[in-house]
Amino acid sequence: MAQLICGCCGRYYPVKPGIKSEYDQDTGYGTCPECKYIEDDSNEAEWIKMENLFANSLSLDNATKFRALELEVRRGLLLEALDDKIITYEINRR
Ligand SMILES: [Zn+2]
Repeated sequence: MAQLICGCCGRYYPVKPGIKSEYDQDTGYGTCPECKYIEDDSNEAEWIKMENLFANSLSLDNATKFRALELEVRRGLLLEALDDKIITYEINRR
């Protein structure tokens, strides 16, 4: 079993050879499952914040339509709006 050093917490953690590339950032480094979980979780929180900000900037009608869309479609729209510079979003983390 291979081992990588987590770039977040500095712990060694085991990786199965098959999924090594999934976690490997640089040779020997990666993000351990615990840190990955926290990262994904705060990403999810940022997504929800961004969706709410976006919906609040729309008319009530359009906000209702937006919120009724599938999650993938909502986030696709947000990414497009970011790409087209219709919206800008800044993430500030410690
Ligand atoms: Zn870690």
